[in-house]
Amino acid sequence: MAEENKIERIKCLIIGSGPAGYTAAIYAARADLKPIMYTGMEPGGQLTTTTEVDNFPGYPEGIDGPTMMVQLQQQAERFGTQVRIGMVTEVQFSKEVGGVHKACIDNKTWVEAESVVISTGATAKYLGLPSEQKLRGGGVSACAVCDGFFYKGQDVAIVGGGDTAAEEATYLANICNKVTMLVRKDEMRASKAMQHRVTSTKNIDLRYNTVVDEVLGEQVVDGLRMINNETGEKEDIAITGLFIAIGHKPNTDIFKGQLDMDDTGYLITQGKSTKTNIPGVFASGDVQDKEYRQAVTAAGTGCMAALDAERYLATIESEEEVTA
Ligand code: NDP
Repeated sequence: MAEENKIERIKCLIIGSGPAGYTAAIYAARADLKPIMYTGMEPGGQLTTTTEVDNFPGYPEGIDGPTMMVQLQQQAERFGTQVRIGMVTEVQFSKEVGGVHKACIDNKTWVEAESVVISTGATAKYLGLPSEQKLRGGGVSACAVCDGFFYKGQDVAIVGGGDTAAEEATYLANICNKVTMLVRKDEMRASKAMQHRVTSTKNIDLRYNTVVDEVLGEQVVDGLRMINNETGEKEDIAITGLFIAIGHKPNTDIFKGQLDMDDTGYLITQGKSTKTNIPGVFASGDVQDKEYRQAVTAAGTGCMAALDAERYLATIESEEEVTA
């Protein structure tokens, strides 16, 4: 356990720096909660791994993800948010209304916060095969939009049958020579519209009932051994890139045992609010939303979390005044 020293006391701690965290910061700063944000391992969150964002209202020409995140940060800082590079590695939440919550930064420094907004997002899942792990960064990627460009004109494969896989397969098909798409069942989970996009794209070779047996290559990917899970038949294909698009895991490990979560680890919030089971701790963005997962919905819940935090602190302050 990290040492407790140099304890700084703040009104509002924001954990995570995606659209949810920054929107919470803008609202909290404007409400004079003097928020301090710790960015986490991936400052800017998942949108920094995206190119064009065309569906965030207010950008008629679209905007690229990293620029949008820089602008959100500038907007949050304009109202006084302190954005700090750092990872919250441990938390100790108080169960009392008005209690002080503690968070450890980078296993070193503790901060105390009267309210906490959690916006730690979600992380891409991998298959877990040793050959896949060995070649991560050597041709195995979980983000077609980030890395697809490197495979221009080449043959690649993608794993997954959801909307993400369908979207990324069609994205890759625009750049690459051929895309082999592996779907483990005899149907795709993706929406009908997305399925149609896949099946009507000529250079996508869609394989149902097919999974990865082994990723081939020593330093870099040079092939894929696929296995048909109905017939047991194996087939090798030559590829230079393998994209994994099998869903995300919410970043909630540090909250286990303290915050209520569903069976897949997403934080549970109460009713239409962002309240968790701990007074003064609020959750926003993908960490509590496995359904919509959009930048704009994350931003919306970030706003809600800051308003919930502001109301919570105001209630406590007025109770303290009454008892004083
Ligand atoms: P999903 O959980 O929807 O889909 C995951 C896919 O990966 C499923 O086909 C699943 O197969 C497959 N899978 C899971 N584990 C493995 C494994 N070990 N080996 C092989 N295949 C595996 O995740 P998505 O990221 O696609 O989507 C998440 C949410 O985001 C959804 O609600 C989706 O609708 C939404 N979204 C919407 C978009 C849009 O509207 N434009 C774009 C992207 C996402 P199986 O079906 O067999 O379980």
